[in-house]
Amino acid sequence: MRKLLRVNLSSGQIKEESIPKKIADAYVGGRGFGTKYVYDEIPAGTDPLGPQNKLMIGTGPLAGTGAQSLSKWMVCTRSPLTGTYTRSSGGGDFGAWLKWAGLELVIIEGKADKPVYLNIKDGKYEILDATDLWGKDTVQTQDYLRKKHGTKARMFCVGPAAERMVRFAGIFSGSRAAGRGGTGTVMASKNLKAVVIEAARTEDLADPGEFKKLVWQQVKGYKEAMGFEPFRDYGTPMGVDYPGFGAGSFPVLNFRRGDLEGWEKLSFMQYAAITQKHTGCYSCMLKCGKVRQVADGPYAGATSEGPHYETIWAFSGPTGCTDVGATVVADRMCRDLGIDTISTGGVIGFAYELFEKGILTVKDTDGLVLNYGDPEPMLKLIEKIGNREGLGDILAEGVKRAAERIGKGAGKYAMHVKGQELPGYEPRAMKALGMNYALSTVGANHCYGYAQQEIGNPRPRILDAAADEDKGDVVKYNQDYVAALELALACTFPGNNLECFGLEILSKMLVAACGEKKFGSEDYLWQAAERVYNLERCFNIREGFTRKDDALPERFYTEPLKGGLRDGEVIRKPDAIIDEYYDARGWDRNGIPTRETLNRLGLEDVDRDIARFRS
Ligand code: SF4
Repeated sequence: MRKLLRVNLSSGQIKEESIPKKIADAYVGGRGFGTKYVYDEIPAGTDPLGPQNKLMIGTGPLAGTGAQSLSKWMVCTRSPLTGTYTRSSGGGDFGAWLKWAGLELVIIEGKADKPVYLNIKDGKYEILDATDLWGKDTVQTQDYLRKKHGTKARMFCVGPAAERMVRFAGIFSGSRAAGRGGTGTVMASKNLKAVVIEAARTEDLADPGEFKKLVWQQVKGYKEAMGFEPFRDYGTPMGVDYPGFGAGSFPVLNFRRGDLEGWEKLSFMQYAAITQKHTGCYSCMLKCGKVRQVADGPYAGATSEGPHYETIWAFSGPTGCTDVGATVVADRMCRDLGIDTISTGGVIGFAYELFEKGILTVKDTDGLVLNYGDPEPMLKLIEKIGNREGLGDILAEGVKRAAERIGKGAGKYAMHVKGQELPGYEPRAMKALGMNYALSTVGANHCYGYAQQEIGNPRPRILDAAADEDKGDVVKYNQDYVAALELALACTFPGNNLECFGLEILSKMLVAACGEKKFGSEDYLWQAAERVYNLERCFNIREGFTRKDDALPERFYTEPLKGGLRDGEVIRKPDAIIDEYYDARGWDRNGIPTRETLNRLGLEDVDRDIARFRS
């Protein structure tokens, strides 16, 4: 029996439920379950920060086993940043512990009348007082809970920024975060500070012998994979050297340039030089986490379990700063406050450009001079955002709402899709990736459909990164591939970067673990992924999102990129790619799935919900 836990914080009622076989078959697990329950249980028009919104916290069917890179956890909900469906995944050990507790999904509903946390222990569930924890940062909170529940307990929590309703606050487990989309803000809006799990290791596999064989095959594949050793030794900062600068795809000065002067100071070798320790998620030999300590300069002694590539970009590209120490400090500040680094870098880059244009002045910034290349105002802004002070209170709303509040034409400089700030890859330099931002169901998000074909991956075919057409079907392929991996909450990094790890081995593992022969067909997983993606799209349609929301900021269509190998590029034919994409998906010209498409995916009831949106 696959089980979920339903926790109503308003009434205090907690109950276990079995996940119906029909849902388990059609949605497999992980993101599939999260999405299905979001669609079914969060009605159209629900206030993302009201008690009617729900948090779906899930892990995958293979979590807590010896399988590599398959123990992540995920939160699905309606985003307070975008108003769309959102999903955000985190690493560490929490996913394994949740599975050992016998749960694949926890549904949090309602709102507690005071700060609380949920404790899960040996099949018992308690809502406990968290008044003393409210206001504590994510490190202090977890330290306190570890002291109280023992070092064997695992947990996640929100920080003070979430309590202050910063719209892009995340949920943190150790140093790992479900960072994007404001899932932490939703959690804090329910007065829920943390979830703690005390559970002992357990495995319930349909065919343990076969499963063990597959794990060995996976381990061998990892060891032999070309990218394994460099990635394990250096982690994601390798992206700074390639493809960030090689292809001119590192966004600089709020997405005006594709190269950063002095980027060598941020090379992955600089981060390797200050790495103290390698850390990883439960059962993952890649250990992409790196504990670092700044060796010298103004930030000497600062430590963080990071930064990853995206965070390095977020605290260098937008502001033109090239100080390794400052990126470590910024990473640590965001972790303590509990905010998403990508959105934080995005709103700061927006503020710097407004300052340059004279739309913001020192009167608006409490005296801060937002000079490019100077990390100090950037660090002060992070603090202001987390505490919602002065300009930080406006930026805490995200660039879309901040631009509306500031006025004076600020919207032109707000780099977002559906309200979510863009990640650190330049859309004009990698157009399939850029259009994936535009077409994603969660707003701009690189994890939602990497376009590795633009840097040479032949599956399903290599793409010319600069081409303006003939890539919509690959955008769909990439999105469905990630959704398929996330049915088991596989980490998308090895899933996209190690040849040996993909749907072939994953499908076999699912059969050996769950005993469901149907999961052994890759086609079955592709179709389940497509079902999930369509359900996410229909959630957004129900909330009023239309084709006009499938757009990048105007800058990418009209302002030629400066610098790098893609100097001079613009996205010339976004509508051509969008039409190709809609055709590949079986959606009409307004981006609404046709009846035939929904029926093919077994979503007849969803068709009844959205029929009225078709013209
Ligand atoms: S690659 Fe990194 S994020 Fe992914 S599972 Fe391994 S340690 Fe975790």
